[in-house]
Amino acid sequence: MEEEVYLPSQTELYNRVLLGAVLPSALGENLPHYFQTFLRNYIFGIAHCFLSAGLWSFYIYYFKGHVYFPNGKIPRKAAILKQMWLTIKAFPFYAGLATASEYMSERGWTRCFARIEEVGWPMNICYMVIYLLCTEFLSYWVHRLLHDIKPLFKYFHASHHMFNKQTNISPFAGFAFHPVDAVLETSPQVVAILLVPMHYTTYQVLFFLDALWSINIHDCIHGRVWPILGAGYHMLHYTTNRHNYGRYTLLLDWFFGTLRDPDAEEEEKKKKKLQQKAF
Ligand SMILES: [Zn+2]
Ligand SMILES: [Zn+2]
Repeated sequence: MEEEVYLPSQTELYNRVLLGAVLPSALGENLPHYFQTFLRNYIFGIAHCFLSAGLWSFYIYYFKGHVYFPNGKIPRKAAILKQMWLTIKAFPFYAGLATASEYMSERGWTRCFARIEEVGWPMNICYMVIYLLCTEFLSYWVHRLLHDIKPLFKYFHASHHMFNKQTNISPFAGFAFHPVDAVLETSPQVVAILLVPMHYTTYQVLFFLDALWSINIHDCIHGRVWPILGAGYHMLHYTTNRHNYGRYTLLLDWFFGTLRDPDAEEEEKKKKKLQQKAF
Protein backbone atom coordinates (compact mmCIF):
# COMPACT_ATOMS: atom_id res chain seq x y z
CA MET A 1 0.00 0.00 0.00
CA GLU A 2 2.86 2.32 0.85
CA GLU A 3 4.01 2.84 -2.75
CA GLU A 4 0.52 4.05 -3.76
CA VAL A 5 1.14 7.02 -1.46
CA TYR A 6 4.82 7.31 -2.28
CA LEU A 7 4.77 7.23 -6.10
CA PRO A 8 2.37 10.18 -6.66
CA SER A 9 4.40 12.35 -4.30
CA GLN A 10 7.56 11.31 -6.18
CA THR A 11 6.09 12.26 -9.57
CA GLU A 12 4.68 15.48 -8.09
CA LEU A 13 8.22 16.33 -7.03
CA TYR A 14 9.54 15.59 -10.56
CA ASN A 15 6.81 17.81 -12.03
CA ARG A 16 7.45 20.65 -9.59
CA VAL A 17 11.24 20.65 -9.98
CA LEU A 18 11.49 19.99 -13.74
CA LEU A 19 8.49 21.99 -14.97
CA GLY A 20 9.39 24.76 -12.52
CA ALA A 21 12.71 25.06 -14.36
CA VAL A 22 11.07 25.76 -17.74
CA LEU A 23 7.58 27.17 -17.02
CA PRO A 24 6.43 30.06 -14.79
CA SER A 25 5.63 28.27 -11.51
CA ALA A 26 2.13 29.82 -11.28
CA LEU A 27 1.27 28.29 -14.66
CA GLY A 28 2.81 24.85 -14.08
CA GLU A 29 1.38 24.29 -10.60
CA ASN A 30 -2.19 25.19 -11.59
CA LEU A 31 -2.39 22.53 -14.27
CA PRO A 32 -3.94 19.13 -13.48
CA HIS A 33 -1.39 16.58 -12.22
CA TYR A 34 -1.46 14.30 -15.28
CA PHE A 35 -1.30 17.22 -17.68
CA GLN A 36 1.83 18.37 -15.80
CA THR A 37 3.19 14.81 -16.12
CA PHE A 38 2.47 14.82 -19.85
CA LEU A 39 4.16 18.21 -20.30
CA ARG A 40 7.20 17.05 -18.32
CA ASN A 41 7.50 13.88 -20.40
CA TYR A 42 7.00 15.83 -23.62
CA ILE A 43 9.38 18.73 -22.96
CA PHE A 44 12.19 16.77 -21.32
CA GLY A 45 11.71 13.72 -23.55
CA ILE A 46 12.03 15.64 -26.80
CA ALA A 47 14.89 17.74 -25.42
CA HIS A 48 16.71 14.57 -24.32
CA CYS A 49 16.25 12.86 -27.71
CA PHE A 50 17.15 15.89 -29.83
CA LEU A 51 20.10 16.96 -27.70
CA SER A 52 21.57 13.44 -27.47
CA ALA A 53 21.04 12.68 -31.17
CA GLY A 54 22.31 16.15 -32.12
CA LEU A 55 25.47 16.00 -30.02
CA TRP A 56 26.27 12.44 -31.14
CA SER A 57 25.66 13.38 -34.80
CA PHE A 58 27.94 16.38 -34.48
CA TYR A 59 30.64 14.22 -32.91
CA ILE A 60 30.52 11.35 -35.44
CA TYR A 61 29.96 13.38 -38.64
CA TYR A 62 31.88 16.61 -38.12
CA PHE A 63 34.44 15.83 -35.43
CA LYS A 64 35.24 12.18 -36.14
CA GLY A 65 33.78 11.81 -39.64
CA HIS A 66 37.18 10.93 -41.11
CA VAL A 67 37.49 8.03 -38.62
CA TYR A 68 33.97 6.55 -38.72
CA PHE A 69 33.04 7.39 -42.32
CA PRO A 70 36.30 7.51 -44.30
CA ASN A 71 34.34 7.01 -47.55
CA GLY A 72 32.55 10.31 -46.84
CA LYS A 73 29.12 8.69 -46.91
CA ILE A 74 27.20 10.59 -44.25
CA PRO A 75 23.43 11.28 -44.21
CA ARG A 76 22.06 14.18 -46.21
CA LYS A 77 20.60 17.13 -44.28
CA ALA A 78 17.19 16.61 -45.96
CA ALA A 79 17.02 13.05 -44.56
CA ILE A 80 17.95 14.25 -41.05
CA LEU A 81 15.30 17.00 -41.21
CA LYS A 82 12.71 14.43 -42.32
CA GLN A 83 13.65 12.23 -39.32
CA MET A 84 13.32 15.25 -37.01
CA TRP A 85 9.88 16.04 -38.41
CA LEU A 86 8.68 12.44 -37.94
CA THR A 87 10.02 12.55 -34.37
CA ILE A 88 8.16 15.79 -33.63
CA LYS A 89 4.92 14.25 -34.94
CA ALA A 90 5.42 11.05 -32.92
CA PHE A 91 6.47 12.72 -29.68
CA PRO A 92 3.02 13.51 -28.22
CA PHE A 93 2.40 9.75 -28.45
CA TYR A 94 5.70 8.81 -26.78
CA ALA A 95 4.92 11.31 -24.00
CA GLY A 96 1.33 10.02 -23.79
CA LEU A 97 2.51 6.45 -23.31
CA ALA A 98 5.06 7.49 -20.66
CA THR A 99 2.28 9.42 -18.88
CA ALA A 100 -0.04 6.40 -19.08
CA SER A 101 2.66 4.23 -17.49
CA GLU A 102 3.09 6.76 -14.66
CA TYR A 103 -0.70 6.91 -14.19
CA MET A 104 -0.91 3.11 -13.95
CA SER A 105 2.05 2.96 -11.54
CA GLU A 106 0.63 5.67 -9.28
CA ARG A 107 -2.68 3.77 -9.13
CA GLY A 108 -0.83 0.59 -8.18
CA TRP A 109 -1.82 -1.20 -11.41
CA THR A 110 1.77 -2.05 -12.35
CA ARG A 111 4.24 -4.10 -10.32
CA CYS A 112 6.46 -1.06 -9.66
CA PHE A 113 7.66 -0.58 -6.12
CA ALA A 114 8.99 2.57 -4.54
CA ARG A 115 12.17 1.74 -2.64
CA ILE A 116 15.03 -0.65 -3.37
CA GLU A 117 15.15 -1.60 0.34
CA GLU A 118 11.80 -3.32 -0.13
CA VAL A 119 13.56 -6.12 -2.05
CA GLY A 120 17.32 -5.43 -1.57
CA TRP A 121 19.96 -4.78 -4.25
CA PRO A 122 20.51 -8.40 -5.44
CA MET A 123 16.77 -8.85 -6.13
CA ASN A 124 16.58 -5.40 -7.69
CA ILE A 125 19.32 -6.39 -10.16
CA CYS A 126 17.52 -9.71 -10.85
CA TYR A 127 14.25 -7.88 -11.57
CA MET A 128 16.10 -5.43 -13.82
CA VAL A 129 17.56 -8.29 -15.88
CA ILE A 130 14.14 -10.03 -16.10
CA TYR A 131 12.54 -6.70 -17.11
CA LEU A 132 15.13 -6.25 -19.90
CA LEU A 133 14.65 -9.85 -21.12
CA CYS A 134 10.88 -9.36 -21.06
CA THR A 135 11.20 -6.08 -23.01
CA GLU A 136 13.53 -7.79 -25.47
CA PHE A 137 11.07 -10.67 -26.03
CA LEU A 138 8.06 -8.40 -26.52
CA SER A 139 10.02 -5.97 -28.73
CA TYR A 140 11.25 -8.79 -30.95
CA TRP A 141 7.69 -10.02 -31.58
CA VAL A 142 6.14 -6.57 -31.99
CA HIS A 143 8.84 -5.71 -34.54
CA ARG A 144 8.55 -9.06 -36.31
CA LEU A 145 4.74 -8.81 -36.55
CA LEU A 146 5.10 -5.27 -37.92
CA HIS A 147 6.91 -6.94 -40.82
CA ASP A 148 4.93 -10.19 -41.07
CA ILE A 149 1.49 -8.53 -41.12
CA LYS A 150 1.71 -6.64 -44.40
CA PRO A 151 -0.85 -3.85 -43.68
CA LEU A 152 0.97 -3.06 -40.42
CA PHE A 153 4.20 -2.66 -42.36
CA LYS A 154 2.63 -0.66 -45.17
CA TYR A 155 0.66 1.83 -43.05
CA PHE A 156 2.83 2.13 -39.93
CA HIS A 157 6.35 0.66 -40.04
CA ALA A 158 7.28 1.64 -43.62
CA SER A 159 7.90 5.27 -42.63
CA HIS A 160 10.78 4.14 -40.38
CA HIS A 161 12.13 1.93 -43.17
CA MET A 162 12.39 4.76 -45.69
CA PHE A 163 15.73 5.51 -43.99
CA ASN A 164 17.63 2.44 -45.06
CA LYS A 165 21.18 3.27 -46.08
CA GLN A 166 24.24 5.06 -44.76
CA THR A 167 23.45 8.23 -46.71
CA ASN A 168 19.96 8.67 -45.27
CA ILE A 169 20.06 7.17 -41.78
CA SER A 170 21.27 9.06 -38.72
CA PRO A 171 20.91 8.94 -34.92
CA PHE A 172 17.65 10.92 -35.34
CA ALA A 173 16.11 7.89 -37.12
CA GLY A 174 16.01 6.25 -33.68
CA PHE A 175 12.80 8.16 -32.91
CA ALA A 176 11.44 8.63 -36.45
CA PHE A 177 8.35 6.44 -36.45
CA HIS A 178 4.72 6.73 -37.45
CA PRO A 179 2.83 7.57 -34.20
CA VAL A 180 1.13 4.14 -34.14
CA ASP A 181 4.49 2.43 -34.70
CA ALA A 182 6.03 4.62 -31.97
CA VAL A 183 3.39 3.46 -29.47
CA LEU A 184 3.61 -0.20 -30.54
CA GLU A 185 7.41 -0.32 -30.33
CA THR A 186 7.57 1.52 -27.00
CA SER A 187 4.73 -0.44 -25.39
CA PRO A 188 6.91 -3.49 -24.48
CA GLN A 189 8.54 -1.39 -21.75
CA VAL A 190 5.13 -0.51 -20.32
CA VAL A 191 3.75 -4.06 -20.62
CA ALA A 192 6.91 -5.34 -18.90
CA ILE A 193 6.11 -3.43 -15.67
CA LEU A 194 2.68 -5.08 -15.59
CA LEU A 195 4.51 -8.41 -15.42
CA VAL A 196 7.83 -7.82 -13.64
CA PRO A 197 8.32 -6.13 -10.25
CA MET A 198 10.47 -3.06 -10.92
CA HIS A 199 11.91 -0.33 -8.78
CA TYR A 200 10.14 2.76 -10.12
CA THR A 201 13.17 5.05 -10.50
CA THR A 202 15.25 2.24 -12.03
CA TYR A 203 12.45 1.76 -14.58
CA GLN A 204 12.48 5.47 -15.43
CA VAL A 205 16.28 5.47 -15.79
CA LEU A 206 16.06 2.47 -18.16
CA PHE A 207 13.33 4.26 -20.15
CA PHE A 208 15.70 7.23 -20.46
CA LEU A 209 18.66 5.01 -21.45
CA ASP A 210 16.53 3.24 -24.07
CA ALA A 211 16.49 6.49 -26.07
CA LEU A 212 20.31 6.48 -26.08
CA TRP A 213 20.24 2.86 -27.23
CA SER A 214 17.97 3.81 -30.12
CA ILE A 215 20.49 6.48 -31.14
CA ASN A 216 23.31 3.92 -30.94
CA ILE A 217 21.76 1.38 -33.32
CA HIS A 218 21.00 4.03 -35.96
CA ASP A 219 24.44 5.66 -36.15
CA CYS A 220 25.89 3.17 -38.69
CA ILE A 221 28.93 2.54 -36.45
CA HIS A 222 29.15 -1.22 -36.21
CA GLY A 223 30.42 -2.36 -32.81
CA ARG A 224 31.13 -6.07 -32.64
CA VAL A 225 30.28 -7.24 -29.13
CA TRP A 226 28.38 -10.53 -29.07
CA PRO A 227 25.46 -10.86 -28.21
CA ILE A 228 24.76 -7.13 -28.47
CA LEU A 229 22.70 -6.01 -31.45
CA GLY A 230 24.81 -3.17 -32.81
CA ALA A 231 24.19 -0.72 -35.63
CA GLY A 232 25.62 -3.12 -38.26
CA TYR A 233 22.95 -5.70 -37.46
CA HIS A 234 20.20 -3.07 -37.43
CA MET A 235 21.39 -1.68 -40.80
CA LEU A 236 21.19 -5.17 -42.28
CA HIS A 237 17.59 -5.36 -41.02
CA TYR A 238 16.76 -2.53 -43.46
CA THR A 239 18.40 -4.38 -46.34
CA THR A 240 16.75 -7.79 -45.94
CA ASN A 241 13.55 -6.73 -44.11
CA ARG A 242 13.42 -10.24 -42.61
CA HIS A 243 16.34 -10.42 -40.19
CA ASN A 244 17.68 -8.89 -36.95
CA TYR A 245 14.41 -7.80 -35.33
CA GLY A 246 15.92 -7.62 -31.82
CA ARG A 247 16.10 -4.50 -29.65
CA TYR A 248 19.20 -4.96 -27.50
CA THR A 249 20.58 -8.42 -28.30
CA LEU A 250 20.92 -11.03 -31.02
CA LEU A 251 19.63 -13.81 -28.76
CA LEU A 252 16.05 -14.03 -30.00
CA ASP A 253 17.05 -13.65 -33.65
CA TRP A 254 19.48 -16.51 -33.08
CA PHE A 255 16.82 -18.59 -31.28
CA PHE A 256 14.04 -17.98 -33.83
CA GLY A 257 16.31 -18.31 -36.87
CA THR A 258 16.18 -14.69 -38.09
CA LEU A 259 19.77 -13.73 -37.32
CA ARG A 260 22.07 -12.56 -40.11
CA ASP A 261 25.62 -11.35 -39.54
CA PRO A 262 26.60 -8.19 -41.46
CA ASP A 263 30.25 -9.28 -41.69
CA ALA A 264 29.26 -12.67 -43.16
CA GLU A 265 26.94 -10.82 -45.57
CA GLU A 266 29.85 -8.59 -46.72
CA GLU A 267 32.07 -11.63 -47.23
CA GLU A 268 29.38 -13.28 -49.34
CA LYS A 269 28.96 -10.16 -51.45
CA LYS A 270 32.74 -10.00 -52.07
CA LYS A 271 32.82 -13.69 -53.05
CA LYS A 272 29.95 -13.22 -55.48
CA LYS A 273 31.68 -10.23 -57.07
CA LEU A 274 34.92 -12.22 -57.48
CA GLN A 275 32.98 -15.14 -59.02
CA GLN A 276 31.25 -12.78 -61.46
CA LYS A 277 34.60 -11.26 -62.45
CA ALA A 278 36.09 -14.73 -62.98
CA PHE A 279 33.34 -15.50 -65.50
ZN1 LIG B 1 11.71 -3.06 -39.13
ZN1 LIG C 1 15.50 1.36 -36.93
